[in-house]
Amino acid sequence: MGEAVSAHSLFARHALLPDGWAERVRLTWDADGSLTEVRAGAAADGAPTAQWVVPGMVNLHSHAFQRAMAGLAETAGDSEDSFWTWRELMYGFAGRITPEQLEAVAAQLFVDCLRHGYTSVCEFHYLHRDPDGRQYAAPAEMAARVASAAEATGMGLTMLPVLYSHGGFGGLALGERQRRFNSNVEHVLAIVEALAPLRSGQFETGAAPHSLRAAALPQIVELAVALPAGRPLHIHIAEQQAEIDACLAAHGRRPVALLLERAPVDARWCLVHATHVTDEEVAGIAASGAVAGLCPGTEANLGDGLFPLAPFIAAGGRFGIGSDSHVGTSPVEELRWLEYGQRLRAQRRNIAVGARQKNVGDFLWQQALTGGAQASGRPVGALAVGRRADLLVLDADHPDLSGARASEILGLLIFAGNDNLVRDVLVGGRWVVRAGRHAEQDAIARRYLAALTQLRE
Ligand SMILES: [Zn+2]
Repeated sequence: MGEAVSAHSLFARHALLPDGWAERVRLTWDADGSLTEVRAGAAADGAPTAQWVVPGMVNLHSHAFQRAMAGLAETAGDSEDSFWTWRELMYGFAGRITPEQLEAVAAQLFVDCLRHGYTSVCEFHYLHRDPDGRQYAAPAEMAARVASAAEATGMGLTMLPVLYSHGGFGGLALGERQRRFNSNVEHVLAIVEALAPLRSGQFETGAAPHSLRAAALPQIVELAVALPAGRPLHIHIAEQQAEIDACLAAHGRRPVALLLERAPVDARWCLVHATHVTDEEVAGIAASGAVAGLCPGTEANLGDGLFPLAPFIAAGGRFGIGSDSHVGTSPVEELRWLEYGQRLRAQRRNIAVGARQKNVGDFLWQQALTGGAQASGRPVGALAVGRRADLLVLDADHPDLSGARASEILGLLIFAGNDNLVRDVLVGGRWVVRAGRHAEQDAIARRYLAALTQLRE
């Protein structure tokens, strides 16, 4: 595919377009990495040819540093193991990691994600201060390390500096182990401002009130108003039952209901882990136009619970997927878990479908693209003129795709086997993965090992 770099074009025998699968699609992009032509029924005209092409997936929720502890909290302790004991281990890593280590861990994460088909990440970033809780000389020191890792690997990034002011509902003071997260609205806006020169086709900034536990409602509203128009706002909203109970005790309202009532929630917003919601809250999120940020792998790992997907789809709700704690780094795993969790609960099959789209694989991929793109605040998520040239070439020679028709491809990708079927990955018009390998993956893995060795001492 060497010539694709200079030719800025690709000919797909089959490509997934916004209206569905199309044949003989010629894709062309400009030097900045945006699509300038997407034409079905076209001729190859000398462009390199691929068999199966789908848009690259958006990963709408990530805490990059947690890649370093994925799989390390799987031994039972003395007390009842829960989200809150996992959080203690996470605080241990968060308390130690240096800017250099964060950059090394984020680069490894982005290589993993790119190789499995994510071409955009929304980073929910709360490691603002140094390990002693002091501000770095540069307000965006840590955030810039994640941005640097994204640039080095070719990952598209939305950086969401987190507003984190309190240790619990009712304005509780931060705990000792939360001192690195300490921020107010002014700090968050300073980070957004400091990163402004990096904004490009590949990079955008938004902001994220951590949760109703860690940010007060007036702060959340202040941040939403002060953030430049159109930029995304993400929040952890209703992940754990204990959080719902604490919110009810403090405010007499459940978290989603409270947020919808008191904050200007609209299409800029992404409600991450809207796990515990009533029928009214499901309807309220759908009507607001906000995206539900679902992270089924992490939510299963942490024992959070199951989001009511079918009623949310029926209400016209928008959703996307994220790898969150990075116990998985593949969109296949998130989408498979999303559907399987629903099947196990309902004791029936084929849940994630629409009124007109009955193909589960196509429905899941397209919905996660649309919701993810909205949550990212970037022009991604579709093979369409003006969007980023972010796409995956699947491995047409793999036995899992043998003899497949277009309508079967995403079902096979999501529900059959465990091999990685992503062969080549184009992000912003640049081939970053070819034949399953990222160009920098060996050097990045060495730096990751060095960082992990220090972190685990
Ligand atoms: Zn999270």
